[in-house]
Amino acid sequence: MSKILQSVKGMPDILPPEAEHWETIEAVIACCLKSYGYKPIRMPIVEPTPLFKRAIGEVTDIVEKEMYSFEDSLNGEPLTLRPEGTAGCARAVIQHGLANQTTQRLYYMGQMFRHERPQKGRYRQFHQVGVEAFGFNGPDVDAEQILMIARLWDDLGLDDIHLQINSLGEAEERARHRDDLIAYLEKFQDILDDDAKRRLYTNPLRILDTKNPALQEMCLGAPKLLDYLGENSRAHFAGVQQILRDVGIPFTINPRLVRGLDYYNLTVFEWVTKQLGAQGTVCAGGRYDGLVEQLGGKPTPACGFAMGVERLVALLEASGGLPQPASPDVYIAHQGDSARCPAFQIAENLRATGMDVLLHCGGGSFKSQMKKADASGAPFAVIIGDDEAATGDVQLKHLRDEAFGQQRIKAEHIADIITDYLVETFNPETEKEN
Ligand code: ATP
Ligand code: MG
Repeated sequence: MSKILQSVKGMPDILPPEAEHWETIEAVIACCLKSYGYKPIRMPIVEPTPLFKRAIGEVTDIVEKEMYSFEDSLNGEPLTLRPEGTAGCARAVIQHGLANQTTQRLYYMGQMFRHERPQKGRYRQFHQVGVEAFGFNGPDVDAEQILMIARLWDDLGLDDIHLQINSLGEAEERARHRDDLIAYLEKFQDILDDDAKRRLYTNPLRILDTKNPALQEMCLGAPKLLDYLGENSRAHFAGVQQILRDVGIPFTINPRLVRGLDYYNLTVFEWVTKQLGAQGTVCAGGRYDGLVEQLGGKPTPACGFAMGVERLVALLEASGGLPQPASPDVYIAHQGDSARCPAFQIAENLRATGMDVLLHCGGGSFKSQMKKADASGAPFAVIIGDDEAATGDVQLKHLRDEAFGQQRIKAEHIADIITDYLVETFNPETEKEN
């Protein structure tokens, strides 16, 4: 027998019922983002490799070692599976002139690919919800995005996620800080790990974000970028904080908070939970005012964030907040040639009233069909044999309420009887608990 093929390492399947949870979560997210005026956009999963090199930066983890890049076998064009969505979104905005003389609030959801060491909360194919606003200068849109995320945690029933913010200032402020930071880090050459040594002269800021506990104490004493900010950067940061205070969103200023991508400036933020171990950042983002121009567009301020969907799902699972998988409203069991046609018609009629209906397929005895009806979780079964089919009747059985039992009724009354039953037994208290 040939070996069974497996999915690529770090690129897991998402199976039922988990995939159903994903759909529910994605629907809650889309609803929340739309209520703030964000519109969906869909970009390709494959982009020209130079896009990411230019947008993310040559000396970042992503571009140096995490990208799935290949050449188009027909014309040799260098292509890359997108490792994140902001670059592609900015490319699309520029290419189609979406931010010319106007502002844009956009969001997308989908797969991202990074060649990382797979572990809990870290995969090679993972999913992000990305949100980007183009054309807004002030701190208000940064604060509004943070506020929107806070509402989203509420909508999802999550409460153990904490907001950290920082400001990365502007390029010239970072350059002055960088010199002092390198001088400080050079004093610790003997304890720097390989990653930190590699980054010392290329991307020293990123050392502050080290996941290595042995370096974290040393980082506490490093020069703080916040002390190098000019007046405008300080005012912008103060503006974000003021709005957060005004609307009552608690936050911590984390001076060591940086981002792994080069394009950020001014506001950066992360939402972090302790419930997921080392991979605790559920959502990360900030301002990237230079990116559009850097990619050849007109200067356009921008601000956005990305949320890791796997981490969100894991967090919901840990907090017991995953939605219940949906059950059908009705299971239709039928046996005999004359019952087949009414079974199909009744199923369609009930679906037209908005009910979810599972029509038994594959034959078998009524006994085995009723076992499946029970296992489906449906409250009602409609049973049709030759006898019922001959008179236009069905047996309507409540599978969980003995008081209702089983009743022989006219097929055209099924929907009304089920609706009446639901109205009679509706209990707002249990509804609230669910
Ligand atoms: P980290 O420091 O954890 O590697 P990052 O700075 O690379 O994070 P971003 O590029 O800002 O992460 O991505 C935004 C979010 O996407 C992260 O906060 C996380 O929730 C999620 N994410 C990033 N990489 C992965 C991955 N390999 N697997 C699963 N989720 C991921
Ligand atoms: Mg990373």
